[in-house]
Amino acid sequence: MIGFVVGSRSDVGRARPGNEDALFVGERLFAVADGMGGHAGGEIAAEIVVERCAAGVAEWTIDALVELVQEANRRIVEKADEDTALRGMGTTITLLASLDHSDEYPDERIGIANVGDSRTYVFDGEVLELLTDDHTLVQRLVRSGALTPEQAEEHPQRNVLTRALGIAEDVLVDSWELRVFVGDRFLLCSDGLTGELDDEQIASVLRRLADPQEAVDELVRLANESGGHDNITIVLVDVIAGDDRPADSTGEHERVVAQVAGEERPGATPEPELPDGLVLAADAMPGAGEEVAVDPIPGGVHAEESDRDDGKQEVAADSPASEADDAPTQRLRRLTWRVGVFVVAVLLVTVLAAGAVGWSARNTFYVGFHQDSVVIYRGQPGGVLWFAETVEVRTDIDRDRVPEQYRQELDDGKTYASLNSAETFVANLLTEIERLELPEMSVSTPPVPPLRTP
Ligand code: MG
Repeated sequence: MIGFVVGSRSDVGRARPGNEDALFVGERLFAVADGMGGHAGGEIAAEIVVERCAAGVAEWTIDALVELVQEANRRIVEKADEDTALRGMGTTITLLASLDHSDEYPDERIGIANVGDSRTYVFDGEVLELLTDDHTLVQRLVRSGALTPEQAEEHPQRNVLTRALGIAEDVLVDSWELRVFVGDRFLLCSDGLTGELDDEQIASVLRRLADPQEAVDELVRLANESGGHDNITIVLVDVIAGDDRPADSTGEHERVVAQVAGEERPGATPEPELPDGLVLAADAMPGAGEEVAVDPIPGGVHAEESDRDDGKQEVAADSPASEADDAPTQRLRRLTWRVGVFVVAVLLVTVLAAGAVGWSARNTFYVGFHQDSVVIYRGQPGGVLWFAETVEVRTDIDRDRVPEQYRQELDDGKTYASLNSAETFVANLLTEIERLELPEMSVSTPPVPPLRTP
């Protein structure tokens, strides 16, 4: 058996008026949440995560942990639906729990689930290794080659999330199953730590201070010393030998047993979630009375190269073809084979042409306004044939913030051949807006939360 010794702390930092981060430390479950959204929304969203963690799970499996995250997400969405003041609230979550043994998995394992840009690291006594992926716009730009990792660290939009809880009824959850070893230190933290200290600075504290609480306190102190621009929340979980036997002190050091990116989980419903966009506002979620569907983006940075269209999009593209197939089938029976062949050929050409138009219509993107916020649409302005445009990516940029000279262009719809280009335009637009707004906003940066103490 293994055991855990834990240090933890959530600190308001030096710049924010309150703390919207939250943490959970249970017997075998640990989590950090970084809430966002005005009117106490972020605080409430993060608190819902904590409540859900406190309720635990019936079976300690990785699937149950993912479901726990999904459920927390649904509760946040429901809560935001009930109270308009809370619309748009959301939170990150990074969560770690020890998993049950089974015949299949007799060794000590932990599960990790993650959404957003809070992080889980493992420190093995020497090396600090980041286990989770940040779901941020800049990480996406890094993957696409548009930014270097160094540029990403300094990028003004580095806080713009592409995934968070509270955005849509379904959320993609990344998960990992790992072997654990006595002596491992798992560090869960909000971006208030990683925005201030680099990995080497964090590792050196973990090397120096064996007591987890002392290490956490020191990390918080250093993050504040380096500016404390955001709330800082850390849970440090040290793995110790339990009562009966030293666990897994031998054996091959294959740490990662299983890893599932949210998109790859069987049965994942990618629709409402944005694997690769800016964070969606809550009112873009399906069922919230929207007239436009939220479309999934084919995974990864190759969105524009992929011919895979999921969900609603595919249904939309298929239905004309299948209607065309069904109706004439009966008539064909009464026709000679020559006419039959002709009709089939015409139908085939029609379907192919419709498919081509649809493909092209659905693989264009444009930046425009939706409900007075800047969004990226998939499709062409006004739609083509029956291929209506759908909101692909929603941003929190209000019309009022958009400089005059861009507004007309966005009203007309600024078209791009790829999602990446559209996103780059939006990123540049944000940079421009922030540059213009700079005099008034000496303290705050965009999507970072107000605060509270847990
Ligand atoms: Mg934060």
